[in-house]
Amino acid sequence: TQAPTTTALGTQFATELADLALPWQAADTPEPRLLVLNESLAADLGLDADWLRGPEGIGLLAGTVVPEGATPVAQAYAGHQFGGYSPRLGDGRALLMGELVDGSGRVRDLHLKGSGRTPFSRGGDGFAAVGPMLREYVMSEAMHALGIPTTRSLGVVATGRDVRRETVLPGAVLARVASSHLRVGTFQYARSTDDLDLLRRLADHAIARHHPEAADADAPYLALFEAVMRAQAALVAQWMLVGFIHGVMNTDNTTISGETIDYGPCAFLDAFDPTTVFSSIDEQGRYAYGNQPIVMEWNLARFAESLLPLLADDEGVAVALASASLGTFRDHYTAAWSASMRAKLGLANDVDDATARTLVNDLAVLMTADHPDHTSFFRALGSAARGDAEPARGMFLDLAGFDAWTGRWLALSPDADAMDRVNPAYVPRNHLVEEALAAATAGDLAPFERLLDVLAAPFDVRPGLERYADPAPDSFAGYQTFCGT
Ligand code: AMP
Ligand code: MG
Ligand code: MG
Repeated sequence: TQAPTTTALGTQFATELADLALPWQAADTPEPRLLVLNESLAADLGLDADWLRGPEGIGLLAGTVVPEGATPVAQAYAGHQFGGYSPRLGDGRALLMGELVDGSGRVRDLHLKGSGRTPFSRGGDGFAAVGPMLREYVMSEAMHALGIPTTRSLGVVATGRDVRRETVLPGAVLARVASSHLRVGTFQYARSTDDLDLLRRLADHAIARHHPEAADADAPYLALFEAVMRAQAALVAQWMLVGFIHGVMNTDNTTISGETIDYGPCAFLDAFDPTTVFSSIDEQGRYAYGNQPIVMEWNLARFAESLLPLLADDEGVAVALASASLGTFRDHYTAAWSASMRAKLGLANDVDDATARTLVNDLAVLMTADHPDHTSFFRALGSAARGDAEPARGMFLDLAGFDAWTGRWLALSPDADAMDRVNPAYVPRNHLVEEALAAATAGDLAPFERLLDVLAAPFDVRPGLERYADPAPDSFAGYQTFCGT
């Protein structure tokens, strides 16, 4: 059991990068109440669940109880939002409480969202509402269960404070855990100060924390860039293969660790359509499903720009090095995507790349024309590999095209069991998430907890859970998400 005085929170970021860390404290919480606690994550962090459920633990999760020696800070960062540069964003409603060490010895940030105004708040109120914080909780934990790198959610505390949005909503704080909160925007901020020493300390901190192998490279900062590029290429490939749309891929929401961060307007695809956009503010479709790889490439170009002074003394040389590296992004992305797509189709290693590529391209043409439900379709292919193609076939209008494709694919003897281990049956479908959040906001957390349970084992089909695997009803068309709530 961890007593509050021994809940040691590290101050590594606050001390090593004090230029980027503003000591600050959370707003008080009139009537704090724990809504959800991630007991397994707590255990992994060495935090006792019973203590976290008590007044001091809830205070830690809401930021009002600060362990001795801890230094909560608001972090400074910049960022391109929808392509436009903001030199000063920063934690406007968030605080880094400090670092913990998990059961595997990894350093993890304990970070709060919705903890009140900071010097970075600009026009915002610094708060968050119960619904969106529970939404981040369920989306991030679903991503984790799908095996996709992500920030985690430790708990949500309702504050008892009303938050004014379009209507008055109950306020909440989310306690989030991440391998760090370093972003491309952190480097953009450091670069914009023209303080080369700060930029170098930030890069060294990022190397030590996330990409230690880069320290031994001939050119460590170029190696850092390439490590982040590879991690992000692999991450976006996983998003694409599971039908995840981040929704707000600004450079301040692109991590150095390669974890998914900032679950605002994100959502999962229902019908397959590369032009899908759910976010109400993404009017141009910049962050549409099918654009995500090229947006990531663009964000990495901004990361490379911020590193230029560390890459070479001569700017022309630095630009040439960075461009050559960034030029390999598409190959890294394609390699990551193709390897996982082969797995989704259950293809054995001896199927040659050219055959697999043609098969995958032809499938994309069929899916783009007929828009099958993304999750259901790949799961149904497992049944097709076992001899029952009807469920998948029923998702297509071009039956002749589907039959021809399926015949070619089945001739390669796909492994149905292997497919079921990578094609989820359950993802946080929009209509299920909305239903659970509506009940939770009205005071009934049971549907939310049930949904969390289902999503914790996304590949294991269990009896009685049919409705969690079914596509959205047609009445759910035109779904929109909102950020900044
Ligand atoms: P996001 O779109 O969540 O990545 O946030 C972009 C920026 O807006 C960050 O600097 C946030 O801290 C800030 N922000 C978002 N919501 C609020 C709020 N309610 N109050 C203050 N700052 C906010
Ligand atoms: Mg953000
Ligand atoms: Mg956000």
